[in-house]
Amino acid sequence: MSLTSVPGVNIIGAGLAGSLLAILLAKRGYSVAVYERRRDPRAGAPERGRSINMALAARGIRGLELAGMLDRVMPLAIPMRGRMVHEHDGAAELQMYGVRPEEVIYSISRADLNRVLIEAAGELPNVSLHFGQLCLGLARDRDVLEMRDEVTGQIRHCAAQPTIATDGAGSAVRDSLVAREVASVREEPLEHDYKELTIPARDGKHVMEPNALHIWPRGGYMLIALPNRDGTFTATLFLARTGENSFERLRSAGDVDTFFAREFPSARELIPTLTQDFFANPQGSLGTVYTRGWHLNGDILLLGDAAHAIVPFHGQGMNCAFEDCAELLRMMDEHQRWDGLFEAFEHERRPNTDAIAKMALENYTEMRETVLDPEYRRKKREAEELEKRDPDFIPRYSMVMFHPEISYRQVMERVQGSQRR
Ligand SMILES: Cc1cc2nc3c(=O)[nH]c(=O)nc-3n(C[C@H](O)[C@H](O)[C@H](O)COP(=O)(O)OP(=O)(O)OC[C@H]3O[C@@H](n4cnc5c(N)ncnc54)[C@H](O)[C@@H]3O)c2cc1C
Repeated sequence: MSLTSVPGVNIIGAGLAGSLLAILLAKRGYSVAVYERRRDPRAGAPERGRSINMALAARGIRGLELAGMLDRVMPLAIPMRGRMVHEHDGAAELQMYGVRPEEVIYSISRADLNRVLIEAAGELPNVSLHFGQLCLGLARDRDVLEMRDEVTGQIRHCAAQPTIATDGAGSAVRDSLVAREVASVREEPLEHDYKELTIPARDGKHVMEPNALHIWPRGGYMLIALPNRDGTFTATLFLARTGENSFERLRSAGDVDTFFAREFPSARELIPTLTQDFFANPQGSLGTVYTRGWHLNGDILLLGDAAHAIVPFHGQGMNCAFEDCAELLRMMDEHQRWDGLFEAFEHERRPNTDAIAKMALENYTEMRETVLDPEYRRKKREAEELEKRDPDFIPRYSMVMFHPEISYRQVMERVQGSQRR
């Protein structure tokens, strides 16, 4: 089937990847129908989802640029030049992310980003957006998708014509492919959960350096904070579920207060409503989803978290999902046919998504522990000097965050090669 012969493309899930992909495909001339279970975010306040703000880096920016979205997105973003490491005694040191002024990452609100992408998709005449539509997966005996209207409860069927499923880490479409034994999935939960808290603004201004990602690394766990445009920071505590220092032990306001005062005294002072927020906000879980079999013939493709959710410690889940979108478009140009396209996409992307899944897990140890080590700091300074002198030498963090021309798989190969030497 040639690329132009399809009547249209369905997208399941108008999250970050689904809304960007809708714009990209529509700008190529496809009719795109998007089905999303949530309410329309253009109509009112966003529903609270996972993570309030997130780090946007070069791979994500490249996807947004391809869709012509940079003019609308970048004014919403705050540059972060490095990580501000807060020690126990209150001392803080900025460790720069890159060696060049343009090597920064950006803090951006998930809700704002998703809303502008949905707005832009909705402005295109060949995109139809359907909110309040829960995809239940594939019908048992036919290759059609079942949708339930969340208001009326009515079920309708929708031909897989092709369909791209960007319905996130808990993908219902992925479950259908598994049930049909087309796909297999391995979910590896992390033993640590997370909780978000707010560091309020003072007189409308940030109370700490705004152009940095703040970290309070404490070995087995950590607190981080990313700036928001309204002068607040969203802080996230990453902590084991059970054990000596764990969520399980933080049962009362007194437990929380004592833990923060002992472990994060400089942050504790900045969160006046700590104990109320701690018990009001949900405790989120994290994990990695490894899927094999991302597609059903040329009809259905899993993309983004639906195919490969990862832990957030390299700040790459969304960036990788946006890169998926750009890569799919590149491969459409290369293949010029739907037949075989989805299979080739998985073949090309899975080694890369496996690589970033591994590096994201490794980066948790670096963020919560290694950054405190004087030896690590010395080596980092040496690496920065070397990078300034030798353009072929690029540290791993920089390759992942600032060099989309080096694939995740190549990053891992280069790092493993240099470790062997
Ligand atoms: C705490 C935390 C921090 C993070 N920080 C970062 C970061 O700093 N940088 C980064 O790059 N990534 C980060 N991520 C990862 C990032 O959130 C995901 O990788 C990204 O959202 C994936 O985009 P997606 O479109 O595939 O999925 P999602 O954004 O989850 O979108 C899925 C969409 O599908 C809809 N949906 C779900 N099921 C159905 C259904 N059955 N029918 C219809 N619609 C459905 C959902 O409502 C949602 O709109 C973080 C994740 C977490 C949990």
